[in-house]
Amino acid sequence: MNMRSWLSSALVLVVMLAGSTSYAAKLADYFIETWTSNDGLPHNSINAIAQSEDGYLWFATWEGVAQYNGRDFKLLGRDAVNGILDSGTRALVADSNNQLWIGGARGSLTLRESYDWFPQPAATSLVNHVMIDQAKNLWIAVQGKGIFKREYTATHQYAAEKAIVTGFSGYRLTQLPNGDIYAATDLGLYRIHDEKAQPVHFPDGITPKRIMHVATDSQGRLLVATEMGAWRMDNQVLTPVHESLINESITVIEEDSDGNLWLGTIASGLIRVDGEIVERMEVADGLPNSRVISIFQDLEGSIWVGTNGGLMRLREAPFVAFTKTDGLYGDFVRAVLPYGNEGVLVGSDAGLNLIVGDQIRSFTPAPAPTLSVLSLASLKNGDVLVGTYLHGVYRLAGDQLTPFMSMAEGLPTTEVRAILQDKSGDLWFGTPVGLAHYSVATKQVQIYTKANSAMPDDYVVALAEDEFGRIWFGTGIGAGYIENGKVTALPIEDYEEAQFSFGFQIEPGFVWIATDRGIIRFKQADQSLAIISRSHGLPIDKFFQVVKDNSGSLWLSSNRGLWRIPYDQAHNVADGKQATIPFDRFGRGDGMGSSQANGGSNPALTMSPDGNMYVATALGVSRVNPFALSQADQYLLPVVIEEVAFGENAINPSHDNIVPAGTDRIRFSYAGLGYLMPSRLEYRTQLLGFEENWSFKGAQSVAEYTNLPPGNYEFRVAARYPYGTWSEADFHYAFTVEPFWWQRADVRVGLVLITLVGLGAIIYLRIYSLQQRERHLQQQVDIQTKALRQQSEEFERLSNEDVLTGLANRRAFDTALRQHLSNTSAETPLTLAILDIDHFKKINDTYSHVAGDQVINAVADTLKHFPNLDITARWGGEEFACLVYGDTESVLKQFEQLRNSIAQTQVDIGKERLSVTVSIGVASSSQSRNYSELLQLADKALYRAKKSGRNRVVHW
Ligand code: GH3
Ligand code: MG
Ligand code: MG
Repeated sequence: MNMRSWLSSALVLVVMLAGSTSYAAKLADYFIETWTSNDGLPHNSINAIAQSEDGYLWFATWEGVAQYNGRDFKLLGRDAVNGILDSGTRALVADSNNQLWIGGARGSLTLRESYDWFPQPAATSLVNHVMIDQAKNLWIAVQGKGIFKREYTATHQYAAEKAIVTGFSGYRLTQLPNGDIYAATDLGLYRIHDEKAQPVHFPDGITPKRIMHVATDSQGRLLVATEMGAWRMDNQVLTPVHESLINESITVIEEDSDGNLWLGTIASGLIRVDGEIVERMEVADGLPNSRVISIFQDLEGSIWVGTNGGLMRLREAPFVAFTKTDGLYGDFVRAVLPYGNEGVLVGSDAGLNLIVGDQIRSFTPAPAPTLSVLSLASLKNGDVLVGTYLHGVYRLAGDQLTPFMSMAEGLPTTEVRAILQDKSGDLWFGTPVGLAHYSVATKQVQIYTKANSAMPDDYVVALAEDEFGRIWFGTGIGAGYIENGKVTALPIEDYEEAQFSFGFQIEPGFVWIATDRGIIRFKQADQSLAIISRSHGLPIDKFFQVVKDNSGSLWLSSNRGLWRIPYDQAHNVADGKQATIPFDRFGRGDGMGSSQANGGSNPALTMSPDGNMYVATALGVSRVNPFALSQADQYLLPVVIEEVAFGENAINPSHDNIVPAGTDRIRFSYAGLGYLMPSRLEYRTQLLGFEENWSFKGAQSVAEYTNLPPGNYEFRVAARYPYGTWSEADFHYAFTVEPFWWQRADVRVGLVLITLVGLGAIIYLRIYSLQQRERHLQQQVDIQTKALRQQSEEFERLSNEDVLTGLANRRAFDTALRQHLSNTSAETPLTLAILDIDHFKKINDTYSHVAGDQVINAVADTLKHFPNLDITARWGGEEFACLVYGDTESVLKQFEQLRNSIAQTQVDIGKERLSVTVSIGVASSSQSRNYSELLQLADKALYRAKKSGRNRVVHW
């Protein structure tokens, strides 16, 4: 809510209060509080009072300006920052945009706007008053010099001053809606029009010289305070505010929001004029000093009066409290009851009084003990029975207060907490030891107790009779009723475990019970119970009384003040049609003597015949007129952030919102600028960007945050009076906690990016190198594999091949021979021949081993190229083997040709040519198909060929 809407709400409130005509307070009804330098004021002369739009109250003194937040007076003295040239201050003027003008000694003139100061060039002498006109120009009333004007040029800036009138003291300025400016001076009243000043004349015969004060009333009329009374100007005609004041020396005149005029005098105190009624307040009435210098009404409607000897506040509270000081016997009031046409009886711990209007009367019991009154009840004949703590029951008839009933007459105890006369005239007495029923017919007392009946408890504190003649009783642990002697206890414990039943409100169809868990409604139609409790929004559990007024409300008393809920909505909640119950709460701040209402005896809250509510409290009895309370009784509290500090340094919250990196602590001081009960204010704060929800601070007016991470935040604060509506400060302090360079988002993003790119590169390179490596390995594997394959192929080949000749070796030949032998049949005989070079040793010996090898190769070549040999092999050394299929005869011929061919072969060894012969042993499969046998046969044949001369073929 901005300042303007807040102001208009406040105005609506004021108008609503003013509109309730039935309630007109007298000066004596105001609550008075006073402050002096002992309470923190810089000086006891209060020269001026103002309230800036943010809610602060300001008091100007000769020792500086005090800024008041309801808790402390903060002193502003001479200071380079604020531009105050001298602590002596006379002028305090609040203007729009939360501006405050401060003017004083040495021509000091400065402008405060929220958290900022805009010092202005000094005036020629002491500034008595400043005024901003309709065109924003600045007017200055200067001591001993006159009236000056500075034209507005730009925000906070004004042109050089122009003298309007000079040569005498300007005291005060005001501008009427028509634009005319009036000046109070020590040489009369002046009207200034188009910068031209003309004296204003008073009616014939009256020529006040010193005009101390001018103001404008709510109807735009001029108010003038002079040494010859207070005046009002209507249609250019000045008339006395009140004839009786014509000889008063009036120092100040202001109109309040109700249209009352408040006048200060030079030596005879404070005067309030309400139409024709003139009321005075003097030092004897509590005024700090009889010289009144300043008068101001704040946004809460309180009247502040600055005197030569301190500050006073007058507060019009809705409640009026009557205490011992006002004439009650005692302050601890337990029972209240209407008496007669306009009186209300008040029973306290020290006796019985009667309040009629604002008068208090006393009743002296005869005989005269001090009666500690607990309960009251009216009898049909108009008399009243008085239940006491120690003296049984008394009777008040007229003004005679005499004993009525004691234990001798059958009361079970002297302590009587509730009394009822039922329709039949019988009497009922609630006591701590049971419910006593006195029958008029039998003159007998019957006691209902837990022991002899269905009573839930003996401790009876409340009694009532419903339209069906049932006698309702409330006890320490439950409630119920008696009908034709039969006790019925109600299961109220089923409703949030309610027990103590303190009071009843009977209405046709319903019985309301005030309990220790809210209020319970009994519905006659279906005997049903329903509760209205904390779960429906009531902030407390325990209520002593529930009483219906004539304005559509139920009033609930408690030891946490007096509560008001809408009657219709209470039924809606009880019917389950509405979830929560709205409420208003009243306490000491509203004028009650104490917020603690009393319970446990009856009636402790009552409505007088004229519709006022009277409540028994721990400090007297308090009265309120329900019709004088508007619905909008919740005052919207201004809330301000008073100071913001980074670490130890207070900063300017309107400009400084960058918190340097590394600031370990940010502190907020705040205040609800409500002056009715400042010590009872409650706060809640939230740091947006850090806290999800409001945090409740109680009375604590400082919030501190340590080590906030860098980022953007917004601090907000709200305040309320207890049980009131939260009111939030208009100003949210938004700020940014700077990061260290390494905490900066861009740096972090950059770092992350660089890291990511680096990681990517590493990963890429790694993958690339792995791929390369894999490729390389694959190549290696391929090479190796190929080599292995080649090797194995070579091995394979080598294993079957004779290295020297390239013929099959013996192994291969053996395998082939075995296969061929097993496959061969009789039809296709197989012939094995073994060849051995003759006298080979001699070749080796004669020509060398190499030559021998050449010879072996030559023989092998011949074998390779010789036709029709199926398998040939080098058998070992200079021996060869052949396998040939075919009949033996042709095969032998073939071998003969072979032998011959070899014999023909010439072998070149160096320069020589050699020729060799071979001997061939032959065996055929027809002789044996056994491998070993065949070999042996061929070998024997060879041996025979050698024996028989060599170079021949022998068949075995
Ligand atoms: P014979 O007519 O009785 O067969 O006479 P010989 O000299 O051939 O006698 P023998 O068969 O006992 O000798 C074979 C010799 O062949 C013995 C050995 O020194 C020689 N020899 C065996 N293998 C090789 C070879 O691979 N190269 C050479 N240069 N000599 C070999
Ligand atoms: Mg040999
Ligand atoms: Mg040989």
